[in-house]
Amino acid sequence: MALNILNKLEKDLLKFPGIGQRLARKLAIYLLTRDKEENIKFIEDLKEIDIKVFRCEECFALVESGKLCDFCRNPNREKRILVVHNVEDYLLLSENKIFDGYYHILNGLISPIRGITPDMLSIEKLIDRIEKRKIIEIIFALPGTNDGLITTLYIKNQLKERFTELIFSKIAEGIPYGSGLSEISMQTILTSLKNRENIQ
Ligand SMILES: [Zn+2]
Repeated sequence: MALNILNKLEKDLLKFPGIGQRLARKLAIYLLTRDKEENIKFIEDLKEIDIKVFRCEECFALVESGKLCDFCRNPNREKRILVVHNVEDYLLLSENKIFDGYYHILNGLISPIRGITPDMLSIEKLIDRIEKRKIIEIIFALPGTNDGLITTLYIKNQLKERFTELIFSKIAEGIPYGSGLSEISMQTILTSLKNRENIQ
């Protein structure tokens, strides 16, 4: 007979991205049967998220101390912003140190099908930052999907009206339609960033 706790764990695990019913059950059973010390360590890590981890007030990166991340604290970086849609892509690019400007995490992509509207993304904050930091270029590094293309176009049009001098470009070369950044080699991303094309 299934335990109550097994059902609860399965429900929790199903909320994780990419986890279906079968994997949820497998992981729940793993948690219930593994060394309890491991679970205690895991609980401590989860508690730490609650106490120590915040989002940078400017770019929405994860930070463990203070209100701003290291990039946003530094006023001497290039006056360019690389726009990504999630923390995963931000980490991929920032950990490889391929860019000397600032980053901005949108926290999603506009998606008419999934009901995600522009006001659900961090576009207003992006506008604030362009003004405050006197940004000269916005580089879009969004996935080559319909949602990615719609989002790029929408934000570009919004910003173009307000900032007539702003340059827009996107990482495009070598990134096939339908791909996300994590599926592409870092060398390709680097080349693509160097050879980025301006968009009108
Ligand atoms: Zn930041």
